[in-house]
Amino acid sequence: MLINVHGHLLPRNVWSDKHWDLLASQVASSLNLPKETVFEQMLPQIWNIDAERLVEVMDSAGIDKAMIMGVDFGMSWVGEAPWSVEEMNHYIAKQVEEYPDKLAGICGVDPRRGERAIKILEKAVEEWGMVAVKIWPVTGFYPDDREFWPFYEKCVELGVPVHSHTASVIFPGQESKWADPIYLDGVASHFPDLKIVMVHFGAPNWTYKCVGIMSGRPNVYVEISGHQTFAAAMPQRWLSDLRYYLNIPSVSAGRSIGDRIMFGTDWPLGVQLALIGLSEEVWVDWVKKIPEKGKEYGLKFTQEEVKKILSDNAKKIHKL
Ligand SMILES: [Zn+2]
Repeated sequence: MLINVHGHLLPRNVWSDKHWDLLASQVASSLNLPKETVFEQMLPQIWNIDAERLVEVMDSAGIDKAMIMGVDFGMSWVGEAPWSVEEMNHYIAKQVEEYPDKLAGICGVDPRRGERAIKILEKAVEEWGMVAVKIWPVTGFYPDDREFWPFYEKCVELGVPVHSHTASVIFPGQESKWADPIYLDGVASHFPDLKIVMVHFGAPNWTYKCVGIMSGRPNVYVEISGHQTFAAAMPQRWLSDLRYYLNIPSVSAGRSIGDRIMFGTDWPLGVQLALIGLSEEVWVDWVKKIPEKGKEYGLKFTQEEVKKILSDNAKKIHKL
């Protein structure tokens, strides 16, 4: 079973007009296109994707299961979306419900919403069957703020992992400083029973920092969505780094670094907006062929190591 732990469904109402407008400007300037073209032709392609289309793409790429996450940017300066956070998460849950064998939901909520965030999370997990929660510190907070301890306590109680963005920021209006993985170390330390997933595995230049934290904290995991561009552009460097991570001696039985890396794609944002260079199909194939590709550079990888990344680790961590 091949599992993608990072996917989205993004109808227009999940983000404010201001966010879509800023995103359109950014894509327009990076692709040298008029902003109207992005707004009228590219964004609608994202807005119109539903679970049915998502599953079609998964099928043609050979992805058996995808985790679909809500995104809550409402407390950043782009402002609240037309849908409330409850409505947005409920939409994801309903879409997931249509393909229970293929999809699993991740609740997206900003822990700064306090009591309300906890209530949304509870509902998402207990009523809607969501299997994890995603937080997005780049919208303006450090995840180790003590104010969020009740939120993490609830995650432990519900048994759901916390996925937190750790990568350079591509969205306008957000800041990379909050994505520094070091701000998850304190959370991992205070909540040893909480599973923390460092989303995007610190891409591109915080990966060593992520591994540094993981080597001391057996409850910290990573997923590799966003790494497509770097792996394809610099295969030797990317593969030799991966070999190094997998060789690091384990601090805890069954929790070596290789037991804690998961596959992810971040579809459809990256591909549809040309922010990520590889399609789902090509990225899946790329990771599957790691043992062959490694050989070209004198690096030895086993099928078992790749299987853990593509399947076993995500299954174990999210109890799929
Ligand atoms: Zn994403």
